[in-house]
Amino acid sequence: MSTFPHPYRAFTAFLGASFGAGPPPRRQFLPAEFRETLLAGAGERLPLHAASILEWALAERVHDAEYLRRWQAGEVSRAEERALGFAWSPAVVERGLASSGATLAATQDALALGLGINLGGGTHHAYRAHAEGFSFLNDVAISAQWLLDEGRATRIAIIDLDVHQGNGTASIFAAESRVFTVSVHGANNYPFQKEVGGLDVALPDGTDDAAYLAALQDPVFSALHAFAPDFVFYLAGADVLEGDQLGRLALTPAGVRERDNRVCHWAALRGLPLALVMAGGYNKSPQTLIAARLGTLEAALEAAGLRV
Ligand SMILES: [Zn+2]
Repeated sequence: MSTFPHPYRAFTAFLGASFGAGPPPRRQFLPAEFRETLLAGAGERLPLHAASILEWALAERVHDAEYLRRWQAGEVSRAEERALGFAWSPAVVERGLASSGATLAATQDALALGLGINLGGGTHHAYRAHAEGFSFLNDVAISAQWLLDEGRATRIAIIDLDVHQGNGTASIFAAESRVFTVSVHGANNYPFQKEVGGLDVALPDGTDDAAYLAALQDPVFSALHAFAPDFVFYLAGADVLEGDQLGRLALTPAGVRERDNRVCHWAALRGLPLALVMAGGYNKSPQTLIAARLGTLEAALEAAGLRV
C-alpha cells in the first residue's frame, strides 16, 4: 500500500481492516473515490498497515458483556439502530473491532516510538452499555483501559478536540481518577445532553481560529499541565472546520493545523507518548477534509520528529 522512501519511516499509520469502507454509507461521509486520495496522500508520508482486529476480551474490559453479546448476535432494537445512526449488520460489528484494533496498535506504537496513529478511530460516543453517534465500541477508552491494566500508563489524558463532546468517554471514565478526559466542542452540537468530563469547554457557533486557540491555551493546556499525564490520546476531529456538515464551528484549515501543531508539540516536548486518532470530519468539500487530515498527520510527524 505504501511507497518508500517515506520522510518519517520510523512511524506507521494503522488502518482498520475495513477503513472507511463497507456499510453503511452516509451522505456526510467521505465518498469512496476521495478515500483513495486520502490513503494515497497518507501513504506518501508514512507507511500504512492494516491492524489486527480487536479481541472481544479487550472490549469487555470497558463495555458491558451483555451489550457486546447482543450486538455480536444482532439482537439490536430499532431504537438502538437509530441512536447509532446505522442499521445493524455484521459489518458494523466488524468495523468497530477493526477500528478499535487499529487504535490499540497505535497505542502500542506510541509506547514504543513516541507516536502512534490510527487513520480512523475516535468513536467517542460509545458508552459502556449503549451505542450512539456512529460509535459502537469506544476505541480510545478500550486502549486507555488496556494501558492501565497492563501497567503501561498510570495517568492518561484524553484530549478530545472533535467538535462533538466525547460523552461516552466521559461517562466511561467518570469514576476513574487515572484518566483525565478533556473535550472541546460546539455548545450547540450533538450530543445535546452532555456528560461531565474532566474538563469540558463548550464553544459558541461560529467560533473562529483565534477564539479556539485561546481556549486551547487556557484552560486546556493549563489543566493538562496540572494533571501531568504519562500518556496522551488525541482525537483530532476535523469537524471543527468551517463547512462541516455536522459541526457548527468555523475554523480555517490553517487554524486546524495550528491546533494540531500545538497539541502534538505539547506532548512531544514533554516526552509523552501520543496516540492520535482522526475522529470526525464531514466537510462539504472533500478536498478540504483531505487536506486537513494530511495536515494533522504532518503536524504529528513533525512534532514526533523532534525526538527521533
Ligand atoms: Zn464529531
